[in-house]
Amino acid sequence: MNRIVVDDDKCRGCALCVEFCPKNVLRLADRFNRDGLRPVEMGWPERCIGCATCATVCPHVAIVLVERAARQKVGETE
Ligand code: SF4
Ligand code: SF4
Repeated sequence: MNRIVVDDDKCRGCALCVEFCPKNVLRLADRFNRDGLRPVEMGWPERCIGCATCATVCPHVAIVLVERAARQKVGETE
């Protein structure tokens, strides 16, 4: 399964990805990034289907889809 990674400091907190996620995975975090904005986070990661819709709609390219194979190559575990 693919997974997403959010770059907190690129995120503008616009919540576009929150609205477009078909599985209601995302939410705005209770913390702030370096610009004082609330970045998006995976509130319910177990629901994510790796569809990449969030990454596609983000106008600030703050979300990257990470493929499982790539993660295993660098030794990352779930
Ligand atoms: S990859 Fe798809 S299911 Fe997962 S958080 Fe993004 S939009 Fe939602
Ligand atoms: S669409 Fe991009 S900038 Fe907007 S909240 Fe989502 S990750 Fe942040």
